[in-house]
Amino acid sequence: MTAQTSKMRRRLRQSLLGPHVLAFLPALALAAFWLGGETLLLGVALGIPLLFALSGGFAFGASDGGLTRQLDLTDSHGLIELADLALARARLAQMSTACFLIEADGIAALERRHGEVAARGARDLLLGRLRSLLRDGDTAIRTGDIRYAVLLAPNLRLDLESLLQIANRLQATLEEPTIFDGITQYISVSVGFCGSPRLPHNAMGEQLVDAATTALAEALANGPSAVRAWSDSMRTARTARQSLRNEVARALENGQIQPWYQPQLCTSTGRVSGVEALARWIHPDRGVIAPAQFFRALEDNGRMDRLGEIILNHTLSALRSWDKAGVEIPRVGVNFSMNELRNPKLVDRIKWELDRFDLTPDRLGIEVLETVIAETDDGIVVRNIAGLSKLGCQVDLDDFGTGHASITSLRRFAIARLKIDRSFVSQVDRDEEQRRMIAAILGMADRLGLETLAEGVESLGEHALLSQLGCDHVQGFGIARPMPKDQLAEWVTDHNLRIAETPTLGRNTI
Ligand code: C2E
Ligand code: CA
Ligand code: CA
Repeated sequence: MTAQTSKMRRRLRQSLLGPHVLAFLPALALAAFWLGGETLLLGVALGIPLLFALSGGFAFGASDGGLTRQLDLTDSHGLIELADLALARARLAQMSTACFLIEADGIAALERRHGEVAARGARDLLLGRLRSLLRDGDTAIRTGDIRYAVLLAPNLRLDLESLLQIANRLQATLEEPTIFDGITQYISVSVGFCGSPRLPHNAMGEQLVDAATTALAEALANGPSAVRAWSDSMRTARTARQSLRNEVARALENGQIQPWYQPQLCTSTGRVSGVEALARWIHPDRGVIAPAQFFRALEDNGRMDRLGEIILNHTLSALRSWDKAGVEIPRVGVNFSMNELRNPKLVDRIKWELDRFDLTPDRLGIEVLETVIAETDDGIVVRNIAGLSKLGCQVDLDDFGTGHASITSLRRFAIARLKIDRSFVSQVDRDEEQRRMIAAILGMADRLGLETLAEGVESLGEHALLSQLGCDHVQGFGIARPMPKDQLAEWVTDHNLRIAETPTLGRNTI
């Protein structure tokens, strides 16, 4: 059936099912008798039920209460039809209904480990559990590989509290562990729902399903295992996110997103040992915007690769112009996202870019998050990082201490330097526990032959203690905040003059 015909049938069924039909039926019959005698009366009396049957109105066995008695799986059109029907029945009874959408996380992993038959078994099991919970007249159906929907039969009391209770009950039942092939499997479940009292009086099934879909998206974003009710503010937030996605994509192409640079100092000489390129959105009205406020929109748009290209391009061009101006900056560190690291052409592209700007690979630092190397067993990522190191780029392990990377993976990924996360650095001069942690990391790095940099150094006290403990490099607001290219050149020139005047800034003398 085409989408068009199914929509037409839906509309026809709605116009035949609504309470208005009941109200007008006697008048229609009378008018028919009056205008056309018994023949027309018979025509109306038999014709309307016939039309109802042809429009598919009896297809779900509404009289026995189960809307989908024979159906286990449907698509989004089918779900909207069921929601239309649930709303119409609720209105006819002057009651309410609700739509719950459920996504199960863990079935794909089960399929990878135990095969398709096990996954199919799990899908059926979840549907069976859902149905075992519901009352007569409620509907439970699968709407995709890992998605399920529940529509409630007409109900008098469907306030937020009772809907939340139902959602929590559905979730708890579906999340009960299951044993497959003798191994206990855990499936986590997110639920988004909307009750019809929350929608405008004349809302259609499509609106009910849409609202539950928005609530589910919100639950998934806050998951695993989250439950969310649809609210008007959710719709506003969703519209705002959509417009941010569009605006950020335009900003990327208009050149409004570019890197700023934060200096890094060598603790033994006090000189600038490098800078880190950090993305900034220079917004014409809102000023400078940090990555935390626009990265999610870029990720949702699949634009992180494009961001990477733009940042690298600006960075290499800045490095070239600093060289030409005689500003001494040995290396620029660039952050690489997981997406970029999965690109099989990454090493070639970087080689080509370095050649284009006539720069040697040692001038480029590759910053990779510890969580990336701790969690990946992706061959391409390993090859890319090791390939860049072989090319001569320095690989830094970012946010070190937060991601549980193994010592073997430090070798496998050819890491050259640990960037110790700010959470260990903060208050290191005042907190004995922090000092012990940093000393332990520095000791380990030393034995493994890795360089170290402390991130987020905010005070002179922290800077001094890190130097004394033997951390090789420091970076943070206490030294300088990220700044645009030209300002950075001025800052470096001033800094070099300052240390020429006070040669006591080195490691042992602070
Ligand atoms: P990160 O790589 O750990 O970068 C350091 C972050 O700490 C930066 O935030 C920097 O402005 C901030 N920071 C530096 N010194 C201090 C300090 O003393 N105190 C405090 N509180 N913060 C300090 P920013 O620029 O907001 O960047 C946030 C994160 O976004 C970065 O964390 C990095 O993971 C990511 N990022 C930034 N630019 C890019 C990029 O071009 N590509 C990719 N893939 N990620 C980027
Ligand atoms: Ca970084
Ligand atoms: Ca970091």
